[in-house]
Amino acid sequence: MLKTPAYAAPAVRAPLAPFSIDRREPGSYDVLIDILFCGVCHSDIHQVRDEWTGSTFPMVPGHEIIGRVKRIGDGVGKFNVGDIAGVGCFVDSCRECEYCRRGVEQFCDKTAAFTYNGTEMDRKTPTHGGYSTQIVVDERYVLRIPSGLALAAAAPLLCAGITTYSPLREWKCTKGDRVGVVGLGGLGHMAVKIAAAMGAEVTVLSTSPAKENDARRLGAHGFALTKSAGDFEKLAGRFHLVIDTISAPHDVNSYLLTLRALGTMVLVGLPGEPMPLAAAALVMASHRLAGSSIGGIAETQEMLDFCAAHKIVSDVEVIPIQKINEAYERMIKSDVKYRFVIDVASLKK
Ligand code: NAP
Ligand code: ZN
Ligand code: ZN
Repeated sequence: MLKTPAYAAPAVRAPLAPFSIDRREPGSYDVLIDILFCGVCHSDIHQVRDEWTGSTFPMVPGHEIIGRVKRIGDGVGKFNVGDIAGVGCFVDSCRECEYCRRGVEQFCDKTAAFTYNGTEMDRKTPTHGGYSTQIVVDERYVLRIPSGLALAAAAPLLCAGITTYSPLREWKCTKGDRVGVVGLGGLGHMAVKIAAAMGAEVTVLSTSPAKENDARRLGAHGFALTKSAGDFEKLAGRFHLVIDTISAPHDVNSYLLTLRALGTMVLVGLPGEPMPLAAAALVMASHRLAGSSIGGIAETQEMLDFCAAHKIVSDVEVIPIQKINEAYERMIKSDVKYRFVIDVASLKK
């Protein structure tokens, strides 16, 4: 076993604190990665606070992992020692079911091994995420990071990037489409950059007036404050596609009415509480409401290559791990510009 310094939530809602975990010795197809940076996703907060229920503790969060390959098993063909590699939201799956064969391993019939707050496919060994100095993962579930991407800023692509790229592709975002991005946080700012690169005319719908200049700098053509019901009037019937990234319960009906007839709104945000749906907001103009969960390995690699080609990375605030609890508090207040990324060197001190 490989002794590994980490930061963990010892119990539900407890502050994160130093912790030690054991990683397995790399097997034939495993890659041992020295973690350099790990992004901080709002999903880390939901799970530490058990807002989706079923969380297990102690929990070492983190699923936006970038590092350098330190050691490889004798069967590894995709990586060499010294390569830069990435790990996203899952680290294994059954590899045989319909979903695994289709490359949407996140829906594996046997339940994928999520990077943390889950188990390996043996269903016994708990998984631990990237708030730690190293991780061992089968090469099939490790991403190649294209050269030329700044490493700290590329880490959030492994979750925020793929989670927004996947629905934009699925719903065929294309040149000239009017796309609304709801919530300008980690996911939202990636959605703006990626949709703009796909040629869409992007409008940010935000509750934070101070984010307007940033929204335009990130590539948005428009900005709409959505603090009160009246703010929605001028947006009625406007968008072909809306990507909703809000992390807290909100009135989805107001946002549905910003769609054109036959337009689609995709929820990627995952508030822990149910949200009421008014049938009329959906039915009267044949609006469609969909959800989207991360993305498979092949699509994640496609997204990384797309981002490299378009020079897209995240706008990050790099923090030492010792500031993680403060970063959570700031994210809950929507005070994020636009992704916190942990410099894992701070864990080695
Ligand atoms: P984040 O960085 O904290 O950003 C969330 C943004 O939502 C905030 O910056 C804020 O934007 C807006 N917001 C927050 N509370 C709000 C409220 N009460 N009313 C209206 N707007 C509010 O979070 P994130 O990391 O982007 O994650 C967003 C959500 O996506 C989380 O629920 C996360 O768990 C989920 N997620 C889902 C997937 C998936 O596979 N579907 C993957 C990753 C994350 P403004 O300041 O602009 O209003
Ligand atoms: Zn995430
Ligand atoms: Zn499977």
